[in-house]
Formats: sequence, structure tokens, C-alpha cells
Amino acid sequence: QEKYSGSHPNIWYPFTPIKGAPTPLKVTSGNGAWIELAGGKQLLDLISSWWVNVLGHARPEIADAIHGQAKCLEHVIFAGFTHEPAEKLAETLAGKLPGRLNRVFYSDNGSSAVEIAIKQAWQYWANLGEKRESFICFDHGYHGDTFGAMSVSARSLFTDVYKELLFPVESVPYPVTWRGDDEIQEKEAAALGRLTQLLEQNPKRYAAIIIEPLVQGAGGMRMCRPEFLQALRRLSHEHDTLLIFDEVMTGFGRTGAWFACERAGIEPDVIALAKGLTGGFLPLAATVCSDSVYEAFASADPAKTLFHGHSYTANPLGCAAANATLKLLEQNEYAFKNLEQEHIEHLAKLEDHPKLDKIRVTGTIAAMDIKTADRPGYLNQVSAIIKRKAFEQGLLLRPLGNVLYLMPPYCITRDELAQAYRGIAAILDEL
Ligand code: PMP
Repeated sequence: QEKYSGSHPNIWYPFTPIKGAPTPLKVTSGNGAWIELAGGKQLLDLISSWWVNVLGHARPEIADAIHGQAKCLEHVIFAGFTHEPAEKLAETLAGKLPGRLNRVFYSDNGSSAVEIAIKQAWQYWANLGEKRESFICFDHGYHGDTFGAMSVSARSLFTDVYKELLFPVESVPYPVTWRGDDEIQEKEAAALGRLTQLLEQNPKRYAAIIIEPLVQGAGGMRMCRPEFLQALRRLSHEHDTLLIFDEVMTGFGRTGAWFACERAGIEPDVIALAKGLTGGFLPLAATVCSDSVYEAFASADPAKTLFHGHSYTANPLGCAAANATLKLLEQNEYAFKNLEQEHIEHLAKLEDHPKLDKIRVTGTIAAMDIKTADRPGYLNQVSAIIKRKAFEQGLLLRPLGNVLYLMPPYCITRDELAQAYRGIAAILDEL
């Protein structure tokens, strides 16, 4: 592995202690579901490079779209100016999203998309003359690394160091389910009971409820049922609070539908989108709100303006990449719609594996817990062990603690997915 080391003395690498961290692997190229390392080794990218490359690596159609746009207009200020790629993208997003989710606010990463959603929800009430003081979020949630996004995320190693700077929120248990779970109704009732209690005790306290719908990502690929989201929608209407869906991960086909809200059959008030939006080519994000949220900002009073503008807002190259990505997704809808069934077939063979627990699938995402209870200290080691064994098998896997998951690009072939599951079976046998 040393041979492939890409550690560089001028880079501060994220998410690892400076001393004692494994050296990063140097990547030289990507193609389809594969990345290639310096030295020539290939890895099957089973996590779509942090859940971003929905269509795989180096899609020529997206590269061409960016190239064409770069020759015409690479960037322009988006305050007081507009351009065709941004308008086209907004129209497509509004057309794909349910109901009245029609107003697109651009930014350039998932954390910012969430940050904007939080600001919109807060200021929506302020503009209507109400002061709301807090938000409701879910345990194990992850919404990003900026301060607002960290505030509504579950407290963890990532956020603890900044805890004095985060705003207070209420957290509710996310009712997680898996195959063969027969207690889900009790878990949902408990979560809804807690929510009702919070909303009834302080009717005008919460600006919004924010949730990762159907699948919580970084918290451990924890999945909930559409029925829960439908109940959440009813509750937030009844108690007059907004509902924000963070679809930064679940958007663009991940849950087997274009968006988790579509799969659940409901319309949130605000939705945050990023990651898959540009197929992994450029950073771009969109926060889309309903017409009624937007109307609360429609005033000549400058104090009612939403003040948020990044230098790269609606960058034309990003919008061109997104337009090409959405077109490809449309042409290949079957690719994300079929993956759930393929996962189910492979997982059926692993179902009785003595090392596995809580197998679950939603759309293109499959996850399973590695049992650790009978091995003291194993929980802290198992992720690194699996990563190393996967590397030896030519697979890129990054378990979240003891949660082993696959979130492949939609271009993965049947043979490649079968290879991935054969590799996983071999890894499990060796654990
Ligand atoms: N929300 C969710 C649900 C995410 O999964 C992530 C990224 N893992 C973010 C927000 C933050 O996105 P970004 O890393 O692009 O800032």
C-alpha cells in the first residue's frame, strides 16, 4: 500500500488525525464504476466517491457539456444577472419536484444548501412577524459541517469541539427499520409521540422539522418508512411548522425514485439538494422551496430579503454539468430503478450470515450491520479491517463504524455488482 501513497506535505487532509493517519491513496483517473490508483491498481467505487458520482466517473456527455459551456461563459456574477444554464436547470428541477416546490436558490455544496434551508425557515416566520426559537431534528442525523448544519445534526465527535457555538435544538428518535423488523410501528409511534409533545408544549417555538428522508446517511445508513414521513407531514401541517427534507444524499435517484419525497408521496416545504446534482463533476447545490415559503420573502422591504450569496452561486459550468446529468438520469431511469431488486437478490444469499444483522435496502442503497457485541473492542476496529480487506479485493468500501453499505454509481453492471457481493461474502467469512 505504501507504494501508492499520495500523502502530500502541503495538504491538510480532512477527517483524519494528523499523526497516525493512514496515508491516502493517490488516484490518477476514473472510468465508469472504477477508479485507478497510481501504480495501476483498480478499485470498484461502491460508495460513488462520498455518494456523489451517481452516473459513475468521467461520463463523456457531462465532460462535453462543461467543455462547451466553458468556451462560452465560465462564470458570471449571479446578483443582478441571470443565464440560460441556471434558468434551464431551475425549470427542470421545479418540473421534477412535487407540487409547489418551484423556487430554486443556488449555492455550491450540501452544507450550504442546508444552511440556506435553515435561514429560509427561520426568516419565513420572522417575515410573517413571528419569532421562532428553535428547530426539531433527529438523532444520528448529519446535515453538514457549517454551523447551522452542525447545529441541527446529531452531536458527535465532529461537532463536540464546537458545541458552545451551536444553537439549541430538540432531537427526536429516527424510527429505523430493517428486514424482518416487527417493532417498527412502536418505534414510529414513539417518535411521533415525542414530536407531538414538543409541538403541543411550545406551539410557536419551532421554525421547522429537518430530516434526511428514508435514509440517514452518515449516521449509519439508517432507514425509515415512507409512512413515517407521511405522518410527519400531517403533523407539521397540523402544528403549523415547516418541514425541511435534506435530500443532499437521497436526491437524484438514490432511493430508487427521483427524490425520496416522491417515493414517500409527499411535498416538504423546503428541500436541500447537492451531491448527485452534477454527477460528481462540479460543486453545485440547490435549495428549493415552495411558492408559499417564497411569498413570505416577496417584499420591497430590504429587511425581508434572504441574504445569502456565494461567489460561485449558479456557476454556469456547474449548471451545465447538472443539466447534462439530469438529461442522462432521465434517459437511464431504469438504472436507478432496478438496483433495489438487484441488491435484494444478492442480500438474500447473505441473509443468514452469522456475522450480519439488520439487513436493509432502499433503492440503490444497501446496508447491513456487522455483529460486534460478542467481541469486545471490535466495534472500533471493524471499519478499518473491512476497508483493508476490501482494498485487497479491489473494492472501495468505507463502512460507517460497523455498518457496511453499498451505494454504487447507477452505471454499475450486473457482473460488477455480483463481483462486489462475492468480495463482501469473502470478507465476512474472514472476519
Ligand atoms: N446533508 C447530507 C444528508 C449529507 O449526506 C451531506 C454530506 N455527506 C451533507 C448534507 C453535506 O454536504 P456537503 O458535504 O456537500 O457539504
